[in-house]
Amino acid sequence: MTDKALYDITPFTLLDYPEHLAAIFWFAKCQMRCVYCYNRDMVLNEGKLSPQEALAFLQSRLGLLEGVVLSGGEATMYEWLAWFAHEIKSLGFKVKLDTNGLNTAMVKSLIENSLVDYIALDYKAPKEKFLSITRDKHFNIFSQTLNYLIASEFPFEVRTTVHSDLLRAEDINRIIQDLHRRGYKGVYYLHRFLYTDTHLGRVKKEKSPFESEKLSNKIPIVWRG
Ligand code: SF4
Repeated sequence: MTDKALYDITPFTLLDYPEHLAAIFWFAKCQMRCVYCYNRDMVLNEGKLSPQEALAFLQSRLGLLEGVVLSGGEATMYEWLAWFAHEIKSLGFKVKLDTNGLNTAMVKSLIENSLVDYIALDYKAPKEKFLSITRDKHFNIFSQTLNYLIASEFPFEVRTTVHSDLLRAEDINRIIQDLHRRGYKGVYYLHRFLYTDTHLGRVKKEKSPFESEKLSNKIPIVWRG
């Protein structure tokens, strides 16, 4: 168990785990190649820290932090994630998972074994645009994960990063319609795209304004950022 899977640690955040002081563990590697991904180095390179080093960091934060966010990259790519989440929870921390939904079995296993407390699931794009935005063709697996989370009534949120030239209001309305049809009861979070010089794809600054007034009100929406 010595692989350096973690790319980095953010020692403290008030923003990434709702209502909790948390650290973020950033996992290297991802199955997707989202054109707007701002974590290019994390997705394409090896990690630098072992899970044991991350746990040692947490030992030094006992009583100072409440939770850990497992983010990346994509944490569910690592088969030992359940072990790792168990170790984190044994230290008394809550666990939040950020995921692209491409490992339904891992999400199920974490929930069924009470190894995760909250999940943020990225709904990258409606089915018709999933491949062009993520460079991944497994919308069906993402869809299974979403259905499982809804059926399990586990506390989770669905979120989408909105680049207004890539996703128009009608695309977001397709997602809203789909979430409504599946019976999603939570808030749908929309994250504004932020331009940096570290994007994975050749994404440009947004040219067209996003017409948020055209969004459906079938489910509650909150903008972040
Ligand atoms: S934005 Fe896409 S490519 Fe980047 S880490 Fe998330 S799922 Fe992976």
